[in-house]
Amino acid sequence: MTRVHFLGTSAAEGFPAPFCPCPPCTRARADGLRAARSRQSLLINDDLIVDFGPDTYAQQIWRGLNLLPVRYILQTHAHRDHYCPDEIRNVLHPKAILPPGHRRQLYLYGNAAVINQGKAVDGIPASQATANDRLLLHLLAPGDTTNIGSYRVTSLPARHTQSETALLHIIENRGNAILVGYDSQIFDDAIWTGLENWGGRLDLVLLDCTMVDGLDHWPEGLERVVFKGHMSIDDNTAIRDELLARGLADHKTQFISTHFAHMFDPHPDRIGPLFTARGLIAAYDGLVIDLPAKD
Ligand SMILES: [Zn+2]
Ligand SMILES: [Zn+2]
Ligand SMILES: [Zn+2]
Repeated sequence: MTRVHFLGTSAAEGFPAPFCPCPPCTRARADGLRAARSRQSLLINDDLIVDFGPDTYAQQIWRGLNLLPVRYILQTHAHRDHYCPDEIRNVLHPKAILPPGHRRQLYLYGNAAVINQGKAVDGIPASQATANDRLLLHLLAPGDTTNIGSYRVTSLPARHTQSETALLHIIENRGNAILVGYDSQIFDDAIWTGLENWGGRLDLVLLDCTMVDGLDHWPEGLERVVFKGHMSIDDNTAIRDELLARGLADHKTQFISTHFAHMFDPHPDRIGPLFTARGLIAAYDGLVIDLPAKD
């Protein structure tokens, strides 16, 4: 089995966004943890975190998790809602106390921005590391296929930002394939080519849906803004249809939208039925998907 646990499902600000008086945040604040979304992060099985973000500490408390088995951190990119190298420092020895003779090594995988910032928290390129080093760094580029423990990861170029090479990842484990499809604008030829070159069939597809169901829920009186480098429910639906048309997904594939921004009112009670009606699932903090092993 492969377990995918959604630790956080919001865009950069969180939901409700602190200090934000917009109607969606005001309503969500009144509903407490039931409505809240923390910053985007996944725990895969018990040993792989996808995006070690600013809420990792709080997420392990809310979800009652034991993160001691985590050995691998896989980053999509280095934006601060996904990546907090200083927080990684806090989970390493000597901030974390280990019994005598035990050495805990964490493996961090990401693009050049991720790796450079990992060096600043004492990370060492894996090729030069010794048994004493605590944080081992592996640079990833689009097109790479990399073995990470029992996982096989194929990285694709996200369509997200000019400032770094943000990555999407296909994670394969126990015969299952998961596409981590955020943060990104609607897929372009480079992403489709990467998916075709990979050529498998996806069991689980996670998609950036920062703009939820569009601009209908934008707070009144505010200038409307389109978030470049992100998607909405219409984009997610179009990608779902294209993945099915290309045979990269089938009727068993689950499509999950996530990374929702507060001003589009991503209250789980409001958007759950809306996504279900489109054949998509709206992620929420604490959602767990178990994929039965196929191997
Ligand atoms: Zn983000
Ligand atoms: Zn707000
Ligand atoms: Zn981003």
